[in-house]
Amino acid sequence: MIQAEISNELFKRAQNSIPGGVNSPVRAFRAVGGNPRFMVSANGPYLFDEDGNRFLDLINSWGPMILGHASEVVQEAVQKAIPYSLSFGAPTRKEVEIAELIVSMVPSIEKVRMVNSGTEATMSAIRVARGYTGRDKIIKFEGCYHGHGDSFLISAGSGAITLGVPDSPGVTKGTANDTLTAPYNNLDAVKMLADANKGQVAAIIIEPVAGNMGLVTPRQGFLQGLRNLCDQEGIVLIFDEVMTGFRLAPGGAQELYGVTPDMSTLGKIIGGGMPVGAYGGRKEIMDFVAPAGPVYQAGTLSGNPIAMSAGMAMLTYLKEHPETYTQLDSITASMVAGMQQNMQQLGLNYTINRVGSMFSIFFTQEQVTGFDAAKTSDTALFGRYFNSMLQRGIYLAPSQYEALFVSTAITEDLVEQYVQANLEALQEAHQ
Ligand code: PLP
Repeated sequence: MIQAEISNELFKRAQNSIPGGVNSPVRAFRAVGGNPRFMVSANGPYLFDEDGNRFLDLINSWGPMILGHASEVVQEAVQKAIPYSLSFGAPTRKEVEIAELIVSMVPSIEKVRMVNSGTEATMSAIRVARGYTGRDKIIKFEGCYHGHGDSFLISAGSGAITLGVPDSPGVTKGTANDTLTAPYNNLDAVKMLADANKGQVAAIIIEPVAGNMGLVTPRQGFLQGLRNLCDQEGIVLIFDEVMTGFRLAPGGAQELYGVTPDMSTLGKIIGGGMPVGAYGGRKEIMDFVAPAGPVYQAGTLSGNPIAMSAGMAMLTYLKEHPETYTQLDSITASMVAGMQQNMQQLGLNYTINRVGSMFSIFFTQEQVTGFDAAKTSDTALFGRYFNSMLQRGIYLAPSQYEALFVSTAITEDLVEQYVQANLEALQEAHQ
């Protein structure tokens, strides 16, 4: 057994002063049992906790650390920026440069506004879409998570599922009424919703590859079908690329699948580990944002110079090193191939979904193409598997309904360790 005394003690203390002991629900390990580990440091592929344990990290801060932890690329940029002051609340050259860089990388973005989180990005994007179209309703997909904005906590994925609150108390009926939901990958259902609410739908917002019900990929033609529908109905198509942006390709899922939305939301990698988000899109739409236009959106720390330096360094690296994506794809493919071999050896037949460096194992034999299928996964078995992996020094997302993120710090020999741990954990979880 690995040590956990100090983490357990801290968790006990934390519960007196922090709701549930954590600052974001999934971190509490409620979906998998056991107590969370309190981290002290991280380097390359590893996390180190208060009890001196080392874990191979497959979460990577829920996506941002695509180059592994404490990457020199990002850290040097941050260190260089610090002496110039931590915040100005006035425009800087860096904001111009990062905006130009984002515009050059993400196909749908002609203008971009920086914010402080993915949640802010999605909340602002739908406000702009509403202002632009003069319509109120939005369509989202079951099991997709777009942050904790009120409008999105309807059939929401991620922590909202595991805590049993996909429809959170505190969201008013009025707000909920303006959010329509459709099953992921079901174009006919979306068409019916758009038809039944003709002229009232401002935006369709989607994770182009869903990562918040476990990883679910878009069916062939699904994203293009949404694009066509939005063109016909004057609806703003928003790709929420907070997870997939700069992860699946330099230009995100929209580049990978060749479908260009009207607006995109970004987060995670764009800040290189600092709290950053962004939303952008066609000029005509983005010029509705204040002060160019009437839709208000602002932020004391938006465009923060330290965060911009981190983001700039990260994005520049990714733009200049497109081979990063082939490397990540091939490492992740070996991990998944190893898992598949393990299952064959053990006579198991679970579903693994993968795109590039994101993947999930679902403890179900159903093909997982949407939320209903994802929910057939045996979550108790997932909990046992998670804890067996943790005991073997592998840190997975503590919920069935999350994707795993691979970083470039994971090398072939670490893949072997991971695959061996996976074999043993699968066996143990079935005992
Ligand atoms: N959108 C997607 C697709 C996400 O995965 C997340 C967070 O995981 C968000 C939005 C919210 O981002 P943040 O947690 O930075 O507010």
